[in-house]
Amino acid sequence: MAIEKVETLIVGGGQAGVAMCEHLGKLGISHVALERSRIAERWRSERWDSLVANGPAWHDRFPGLEFEGYGQDDFVPKDGVAAYFEDYARMIDAPIRCGVDVKEVRKKEGAPGFIVETSDGTYEANTVVAATGPFQTPVIPPVIPSDVPVTQMHSSAYRNPDQLEDGAILVVGAGSSGVQIAEELMKAGRKVYLSVGPHDRPPRSYRGRDFVWWLGVLGLWDAPAMEPGKEHVTIAVSGADGGKTIDFRDLAARGMTLVGRSNSYADGKVFFGTDLVANVNGGDENLRSLLDAADAYILRNGLDLPEEPSARIKRPDPDCMVNPLSELDLAEAGIKTVIWSTGFGQDYSWLKVDAFDAEGKPAHQRGVSTEQGVYFLGLPWLSRRGSTFIWGVWHDAKYIADHIATRRTYADYEASEDALKGAAVGT
Ligand SMILES: Cc1cc2nc3c(=O)[nH]c(=O)nc-3n(C[C@H](O)[C@H](O)[C@H](O)COP(=O)(O)OP(=O)(O)OC[C@H]3O[C@@H](n4cnc5c(N)ncnc54)[C@H](O)[C@@H]3O)c2cc1C
Repeated sequence: MAIEKVETLIVGGGQAGVAMCEHLGKLGISHVALERSRIAERWRSERWDSLVANGPAWHDRFPGLEFEGYGQDDFVPKDGVAAYFEDYARMIDAPIRCGVDVKEVRKKEGAPGFIVETSDGTYEANTVVAATGPFQTPVIPPVIPSDVPVTQMHSSAYRNPDQLEDGAILVVGAGSSGVQIAEELMKAGRKVYLSVGPHDRPPRSYRGRDFVWWLGVLGLWDAPAMEPGKEHVTIAVSGADGGKTIDFRDLAARGMTLVGRSNSYADGKVFFGTDLVANVNGGDENLRSLLDAADAYILRNGLDLPEEPSARIKRPDPDCMVNPLSELDLAEAGIKTVIWSTGFGQDYSWLKVDAFDAEGKPAHQRGVSTEQGVYFLGLPWLSRRGSTFIWGVWHDAKYIADHIATRRTYADYEASEDALKGAAVGT
């Protein structure tokens, strides 16, 4: 089969791939994106049925297109998000080839560019953008052995309550996924235990503004790096039911049993850390600090936004916090399913270039990798807190497209006759 030559090859047709196509197209840089499945596949088939965007429609989108059929403050259902990216790709005429799996990218020997092996033949590319996602491979910590008679699944495999066999459920992880799945199961009448680790817990809205607005005006989306020590802190936020603040004490008051981190397993029992109260209090502290920062911003800028003292009301500690469980016998508690909402890893085994550090992590600055001509897009904290979010990846893609264009000017440079003559005689 003939080798197809492309200037820039994008791997992945999610939001990052679509954004990359837009910016490269605007700069007149020819490109092709290869997507192993369908555009925005993860929004279609790797999320639970009832998921809606965590941010409102006015915010969680690209600048060039609004969500059709939704109000600006609506939280768009996941299928609406997938359809949006498909519409967007059509609007910009993005050259995304679906159903093509990239198997290997390697540097051409003794020549610029890369050889790209795919399920649909071989490509040669000057530049490769890895836009394969921040959340690729489900991570399940090795706590409960696989031969224990309980169904263990990752949050990316959870779809809806009917999928699970009757019985109680232990949800591990109280970030956006875990807390939403746990609440959905509780509302479906299931007994739910929620294992709560360290988390941030912003108010859904405060004084008439959604928290995404507050993060924007306070400059917090632009934070360049995670605060040291917060590497394992998740964010508990939800757009479900029209959007509401996650309140763990409220969930407990409605029947959910909160437990600390799930640390180990032996003889049919899961053992929890003693950190539940500290974790819930840490989330409260995070919420309060955002309210304080918002109040200070309003005062400083003389904004006329309604006061909201109820946002600071703290419910009493529920019994499960006053007398926290240190262990749970799975059989006695009737637990039939454990849902690990414990995040994702990345798999770049196909990218065989010099773009990784000693630990195998992408080595890059704002997506520009240590292998000239290879870029990463969509990674957490690629340039800032917002980098994995829909609007954030659009800005990162712009930066990378600019970088590719600049690099091309060097590649295209041809020395004048005089300069070449000078070089030949060593002047
Ligand atoms: C549960 C959940 C909810 C989220 N909610 C929001 C939200 O409300 N708002 C928001 O802004 N962000 C949200 N995010 C974060 C982010 O928007 C999504 O994770 C988004 O899917 C990331 O887009 P991406 O294009 O970077 O990566 P992905 O969507 O993962 O796209 C990468 C694509 O690359 C393809 N691919 C991978 N490897 C190959 C290969 N070797 N060859 C060819 N194709 C390949 C995949 O099939 C995939 O389609 C959420 C994330 C999760 C997990």
